[in-house]
Amino acid sequence: MAHAGNNIFAPGGVDMWLKVLLSLFRSVSWTGRSFKFPPDRKYLRWWQAPRHFELQNRRQLKTIYMKRTIKRVFAVTTLTILITISGLATILLFPQPLFANKMEHKQFTVYSNDKITADIVPLLDNAMALVEKSEINDPNYQYDILLSFNSLFNKIDDKLLGFGPSARATDNNVTIKVRVDTKRDLFFPTFHRKCQSSLTYLLAHEMIHCLQAHKYGITKFNPLKHPEMWKLEGYPEYVARQPKLTNKSYNLTSEIDRYIELESKSADLWVLIEEGACEAPNYYYKGRLMVEYLMDIKHWSYDKILNDTTSTNSVYEDMINWRNELKKKKN
Ligand SMILES: [Zn+2]
Repeated sequence: MAHAGNNIFAPGGVDMWLKVLLSLFRSVSWTGRSFKFPPDRKYLRWWQAPRHFELQNRRQLKTIYMKRTIKRVFAVTTLTILITISGLATILLFPQPLFANKMEHKQFTVYSNDKITADIVPLLDNAMALVEKSEINDPNYQYDILLSFNSLFNKIDDKLLGFGPSARATDNNVTIKVRVDTKRDLFFPTFHRKCQSSLTYLLAHEMIHCLQAHKYGITKFNPLKHPEMWKLEGYPEYVARQPKLTNKSYNLTSEIDRYIELESKSADLWVLIEEGACEAPNYYYKGRLMVEYLMDIKHWSYDKILNDTTSTNSVYEDMINWRNELKKKKN
């Protein structure tokens, strides 16, 4: 009787044949091949690595592939995020193609989805006449006015930058986000309280914001880094409200009195800047009064105001003392 190991039909024999076949297969498969470490790129997955690799090598190989996978996932994610951010930034900075209608007038290009009528022309001219008087004016500066109420751009802008302001100045874009009536020279804020105010004023205010960044650089005037709020908002207010400030019946001391009274009555930050107009956070009003005091009474330039390091409170106190002195003299 033959030995069980030599009989392929015997239980031990099958086991032996399998071992032989396996060793044959291995020697045929891998004979003559040499493996570099780290391995060739053709082994896309660690478990496809040659069977005869040492356990330690296989572990190292696994680590290498894991790292490579993590790197790839990281690279793809970063790239996707970058493409998305740059795409959205492009829409925010260059939204002009999103608007159906366009009109050019002097250094202005107006964009809107609604029909743009000639009613806006005197408003642009009057806003320009106010801005022209500013020391930071650049006569060659080109403005894009985006009337974006009810537009796709507004929806994107609200989602990204938050719902709230009626208007925004970004680079040379003046975006008016709320409903406007160019015939009646009005815009209609809804954020804090429903109200209406002069569109010419709003255009001039935002145009000054464009010029602030244009003259002093985007690194000094941007949403994250800018001078104190009273310097940032006070000056556009001072320029845009010149029609009121140069009116014969206007005087700064009674305006300061009015501000103090309003501020003491106000339960929150918001105060009514003009009768029948809109409320705004108090630094618009207070800032304008302080800028007005420094420019009209002390004859400072905006440059000097920006470079001056006196604290907000000291400037305010100085203005109040000036008002008190003037009142004493009158009595
Ligand atoms: Zn502003």
